[in-house]
Amino acid sequence: DSSSNLIRATLFPGDGIGPEIAEAVKQVFRAADVPIEWEEHYVGDQIDPRTQSFLTWESLESVRQNGVGLKGPMATPIGKGHRSLNLTLRKELNLYANVRPCYSLPGYKTRYDDVDLITIRENTEGEYSGLEHQVVRGVVESLKIITRQASLRVAEYAFHYAKTHGRERVSAIHKANIMQKTDGLFLKCCREVAEKYPEIKYEEVVIDNCCMMLVKNPALFDVLVMPNLYGDIISDLCAGLIGGLGLTPSCNIGEGGIALAEAVHGSAPDIAGKNMANPTALMLSAVTMLRHLKLHDKADQIQNAILNTISEGRYRTADLGGSSTTTDFTKAICDHL
Ligand code: NAD
Repeated sequence: DSSSNLIRATLFPGDGIGPEIAEAVKQVFRAADVPIEWEEHYVGDQIDPRTQSFLTWESLESVRQNGVGLKGPMATPIGKGHRSLNLTLRKELNLYANVRPCYSLPGYKTRYDDVDLITIRENTEGEYSGLEHQVVRGVVESLKIITRQASLRVAEYAFHYAKTHGRERVSAIHKANIMQKTDGLFLKCCREVAEKYPEIKYEEVVIDNCCMMLVKNPALFDVLVMPNLYGDIISDLCAGLIGGLGLTPSCNIGEGGIALAEAVHGSAPDIAGKNMANPTALMLSAVTMLRHLKLHDKADQIQNAILNTISEGRYRTADLGGSSTTTDFTKAICDHL
């Protein structure tokens, strides 16, 4: 029975263009004969009291049990008295690091052709702790939380990643000259971990200088590790260096080795249902999931088929200046396998 050799992985198709690009991933995986069995979960239309959100408890259990998953973008309706779906996933699954590889795609011309860096964003605290309140009328306060535990954990992940992926340098991005206590503690933790990895070079770069260096010469960077908000901003900046949101994958790493891959982009309501979306970002995210499962042959095969299709230039979606539909582009990738 071949089904007993299949690895189970959770799939959240998500909202907007999510189902279209998730279908594209499933097609490519079938064509490449990847030994994965998808367990699909949809975002519900009622709040599950056990998660206080539209995500069901069962869907979270599925990720916990499988240990790996792929998620499409999820749109969060604003102000309906429930938790954001992405925040629920992050908190419930303790997804503490968001890893975004960012490299120039051969054959797709941008201003830079030598980008090859990894941003690693702390994903659980910092400015995203959700602790905001009004002190008095006209004065509000937002708490930025930095803990030793979360900082050590993400720093450890970054150095371990560098070591196991043949990378040479880790840069900690900060503003400790102004945020002396919070970013100061983050840096102190990075330094502590750096001492355990003498073979990896370590440097500290102030965030404003980092932005300037990134747009002048992105090849200056290798692995970057940073607190939550800086990671959010810098990783989108990096996506822009290589051609935009249709291309950039990411993977969320959780406690106990959970890996939940997702595209960086949102649900793109402006093009949803029009067969126009670029599925590359979600496909490359699925490739990071395969690498996590050590299915490197399948990962290489699919990644090469995607890169060759884009590089050839005959089939490209509208965001890359082409006129192919999502389905035509996906078929071209399957033909390249
Ligand atoms: P967005 O990323 O959905 O769209 C920004 C622009 O990029 C749009 O013009 C869109 O058409 C384009 N785009 C994005 N992905 C594309 C793709 N694969 N192919 C072609 N074009 C693509 O950002 P937004 O409009 O600010 O957000 C829309 C919704 O998505 C919001 O509800 C937001 O909360 C949600 N969102 C979810 C996630 C997530 O689930 N991780 C991330 C960001 C935004």
